Amino acid sequence: MSKDTQRLRIALQKSGRLHEDSLAILRLCGIKLTPDSRQLLCRSEEMPLDLLFIRDDDIPGFVAEGICDLGIVGENIYWEEHCAWEHDRERGDHISDSGPFRARVSRKLGFSRCRLSLAGPAEFARRYQEQGPKALQGCTIASSYPASLEHFLKENNVQAEIIKMKGSVELAPKLGIADLICDLISTGSTLVANNLVECHSFLKSEAVLLEHGGNEESRTDWSPQRLACFQQLQTRLDGVLRARNSKYVMMNAPKDKVLEISRLLPGADSPTVIPLGDPEQVAIHVVSGEPVVWETMEALKAAGAHSILIQSIEKVLL
Ligand code: ATP
Ligand code: ZN
Repeated sequence: MSKDTQRLRIALQKSGRLHEDSLAILRLCGIKLTPDSRQLLCRSEEMPLDLLFIRDDDIPGFVAEGICDLGIVGENIYWEEHCAWEHDRERGDHISDSGPFRARVSRKLGFSRCRLSLAGPAEFARRYQEQGPKALQGCTIASSYPASLEHFLKENNVQAEIIKMKGSVELAPKLGIADLICDLISTGSTLVANNLVECHSFLKSEAVLLEHGGNEESRTDWSPQRLACFQQLQTRLDGVLRARNSKYVMMNAPKDKVLEISRLLPGADSPTVIPLGDPEQVAIHVVSGEPVVWETMEALKAAGAHSILIQSIEKVLL
């Protein structure tokens, strides 16, 4: 597939857990798309950008090779491909490029949260509690993330056998294929159903935006349109991410309590104070950069505020 040098290209998961949320975050950035599920490539009409829909495992490699400029993928997949690349490099297995892995995490996107963990029968979990990673010495561990696991074992100076499995890893101990597993966990219900206990989590993951090269130099040959689109997308994405973490807080309060109340709001800008019909009362509006918990609302009320409303924000442009 030849690449149009005028257009930005973003890799997304074709179908699966990340697909919908990845499209949703791009739509919030103003990218209008009607992707056809059978299509590999989808063009945006308003912006000079194309979306490439592929398997998530291929996304880090496509970004590292520069086939795509950006990609949205689980950090666990990024880390696995990164470790696999480094291991091949150490062994001298690389066919073409023997340089570093040219994809980096540019932004964490806050969805598809999970963790990569070691799990085993309860008896092993107790041993792990006592001994730490040393308990893994000589064990057999089934995993779909062999490179990440190998990296962890090396880091801890432990020798263990890794059995690579594509799926149903949680069945390995029951089937006698392995002593333990190393797999993705979100709620832990699959572990419970298979009588396994989480021993240690060594990678926290969420969807991330990957960027090719990770430095300005890699973009020197870009057309001005492509560069402008890249920068605009990043600014808009930051606006969406900031909005996700922010709340619009409104309340009424006695005029003389404004200062005390403002101090109670976490990560808030200077408040907007609006006069009300009652000359002793004002309305206070403020954007809080952090979630506002019940305890904060109760403290605001105790300080004299009332009619407290917390609203979600869709976009922010500073
Ligand atoms: P593909 O066909 O693209 O290869 P897949 O079957 O490998 O898809 P999915 O099951 O769609 O992948 O999961 C994609 C990602 O979702 C995982 O790599 C991980 O980042 C995230 N994820 C979040 N929670 C979980 C979970 N409980 N189990 C597995 N993946 C999870
Ligand atoms: Zn996959």
